[in-house]
Amino acid sequence: MTISDIQDQIKASSARAVVEKVIAKAREKADYHALLNLTEERALQRADDVDAGKITGKLAGVPFVVKDNFLAFGAPTTAASKMLEHFDAPLQATAVEKLEAEGAICIGKSNLDAFAHGGSTENSAFGPTKNAFDTERVSGGSSGGSAVVTALDIVPFALGSDTGGSIRQPASFNGVVGVKPTYGMISRYGVVAMASSTDVIGSFTTNVADAELVSSIMAGCDVRDMTTLPDFFQVQTEVKPGQKIGLIADFMTDGVDADVRAKVNQYVDGLKAKGHIIESVNLPMAEYALAIYYILVPAELSSNLARYDGIRYGHRAEAVKTLAELYGRTRDEGFVTENKRRIMIGSYVLSSGFFDAYYLQAQKARTLLINQFNELFKKYDLLIGPVAPTTAFKIGENTADPIKMYLGDIMTVPTSLAGLPAISVPAGKSDVSGLPVGVQLMGPMRSDANLLALARSMETI
Ligand code: GLN
Repeated sequence: MTISDIQDQIKASSARAVVEKVIAKAREKADYHALLNLTEERALQRADDVDAGKITGKLAGVPFVVKDNFLAFGAPTTAASKMLEHFDAPLQATAVEKLEAEGAICIGKSNLDAFAHGGSTENSAFGPTKNAFDTERVSGGSSGGSAVVTALDIVPFALGSDTGGSIRQPASFNGVVGVKPTYGMISRYGVVAMASSTDVIGSFTTNVADAELVSSIMAGCDVRDMTTLPDFFQVQTEVKPGQKIGLIADFMTDGVDADVRAKVNQYVDGLKAKGHIIESVNLPMAEYALAIYYILVPAELSSNLARYDGIRYGHRAEAVKTLAELYGRTRDEGFVTENKRRIMIGSYVLSSGFFDAYYLQAQKARTLLINQFNELFKKYDLLIGPVAPTTAFKIGENTADPIKMYLGDIMTVPTSLAGLPAISVPAGKSDVSGLPVGVQLMGPMRSDANLLALARSMETI
């Protein structure tokens, strides 16, 4: 279902009728556990305002869903954690405000790994989301709920956040388009912070044109997010012909399932048929990307999560005698195991005895990775590769082994560390399992529009 399909439905009936239908469908599909809360009352009120002509805009009446780490009115903002289970947002994320200013209607908040730590939604304090194609499999994550509501055609688009792959991987696992924009293209104000130097927000859609539309509405400078860049996103109707594209050889090894590689190769053939030039390239620092990511991201998130102390907001432990006990018990009760694991790793790598050996070293290695990307972009317009080494895995398959779970992020974290735009687009279904496979297009900073235009030109194949 596309945005224009929904707009046709609104024209033929009313915004209220469409929103009621969408909410009914969300309830019907409740078994997928893609949504944590509906924002029904507020959504219907806004739909009536659209029908009365009080709300207008490019997306007037179009329903959407936001990941539950975005502050939004109408339901609590839980970040899928006990810590924020009853937290009502005092304001809305800039991205939500911008979409609402164009008349869009948020109908619910989607499931995620608690505080976006994970790649399957199995770390949600409220239980996992099921894959849209196989309910025994994970949705991917952490933005799994948003991917699934889009794939199930509940809403035409949904928002997610991507710190190391959380939009791209679930998009790949559910056969939808997932966009991780250039770092700073879209304001993160009002989104629960994970790792401030890689967090970005972006969209899930069923086609590329919708991603372009939603991106163009959300992009731009925000005085409340000092990392935002002046708006540079301009939808590119024409595709630049004969682009030079590097296929990352380090991502096409035996470590990546053959059925996934086969789909990427097929997509590459399609690009060649359209006159683009594909060459195999190396990104040797990719080998270290996971190690860098799993030092720097825990370091940053341990600092960002320090605010959940039971004093200011969120959960507060009861019947405690001392302040230390209040902090300790609150954090023990409010965080899931994966949150605690990362806070411990982060605190460790930032501690005075180990800072130089881990945090500083990882920052230096990150610079080397960025330099390698920069070198490649002197010769290539963009890079291509798989999104994840596998298709959606079984629920429970990787939960006992966090390292195995982290390995799944190997091809999404490099661009996150470098702040580069990267999108996941459907590349068909695996010949082995029949599950969706995504291909990843990655470009230099601010090349978002080119990646999307190229992906759009490939949709007809
Ligand atoms: N799966 C990655 C992680 O666990 C990415 C998470 C994200 O992008 N929020 O860190």
